[in-house]
Amino acid sequence: RAKEDGRGVSRFYTAELRNAANLGVRLEEDLRDAIDKGELSLAYQPLVDPTDNRVKCFEALMRWEHPHEGTISPGVFIPIAEKSELILILGEWALRQACRDAAQWPDHIHVAVNVSARQFMQADMPKLVSSALRSSSLAASRLELEVTESVFVGGVEAVDQTFDRLDRLGVRLAMDDFGTGYSSLGYLKRAPFKKIKIDQSFVQGCTESGDTNPAIISAVVALAKALGMQTVAEGVEAMDELALVRERGADLIQGYIYSPPLTQDQILTKFADGDWILKADGPPRYRAD
Ligand code: C2E
Ligand code: MG
Ligand code: MG
Ligand code: MG
Repeated sequence: RAKEDGRGVSRFYTAELRNAANLGVRLEEDLRDAIDKGELSLAYQPLVDPTDNRVKCFEALMRWEHPHEGTISPGVFIPIAEKSELILILGEWALRQACRDAAQWPDHIHVAVNVSARQFMQADMPKLVSSALRSSSLAASRLELEVTESVFVGGVEAVDQTFDRLDRLGVRLAMDDFGTGYSSLGYLKRAPFKKIKIDQSFVQGCTESGDTNPAIISAVVALAKALGMQTVAEGVEAMDELALVRERGADLIQGYIYSPPLTQDQILTKFADGDWILKADGPPRYRAD
């Protein structure tokens, strides 16, 4: 209970908290049925090589069309799902769906799927991955799994084994939101990451004078290069940001400057027209978010 500050503010504060908690409980219940009701979908955002503007990969991003609340952001419902085993169900659904969708794209295009720490720590996680690959006929080398630094917080040895087994399967691993968690450079050495994704908080506003983010971007790029990993700049929205992250050596760009997340239908239509080259021009013409 919030402390009285003598102005009656706390009553509103607790009422608001209670409402937020109620909404969370309701959403959790609704989320349990969302898959069966067909309310969940995946949107795919391109990762582009800025040297030739070609799409190399799409990141799968979950979308929830709630019957009453409208579109709910994964930033809201993923944390709710992560409180229980619900995230395992959502995670399996996303992995299988993304593999099926990617199997319809040209062979050189990869798909990246977010895996939450709780799911990553499941003992049968590599088995689930190989099952998803087998039933979709997607080549393992086209699947990338994005994990955040939080996977290293729990059972350390189990996680090391999972990294090993996934590496042997031939899937690629990416470190997502780098620099925002309990960063320890040792993590990078322990796991066979192919990519480091520089969080958008380091990218947005990086062109303002006196900003320290350019120094951080350069340092992460240098570190990644030394370890033989690629870097992705996330959340690039403006031309000057694109110029800066390119100049600092980022290998791939993900952000509204190239494209928002798209639907599978939009992607298939575009691929039917030939190879995919995007223009860094924004504002986006299509969107699935
Ligand atoms: P993330 O994995 O870091 O994904 C990148 C987020 O940045 C996405 O938000 C994307 O839409 C957004 N974004 C991309 N370009 C720009 C840009 O230029 N400007 C701005 N402002 N934002 C940009 P989204 O789709 O809302 O997803 C939020 C987070 O939810 C993801 O962050 C990821 O952590 C989580 N998430 C999404 N789908 C899944 C999933 O299937 N499984 C799990 N475990 N987590 C997921
Ligand atoms: Mg991600
Ligand atoms: Mg990210
Ligand atoms: Mg992020």
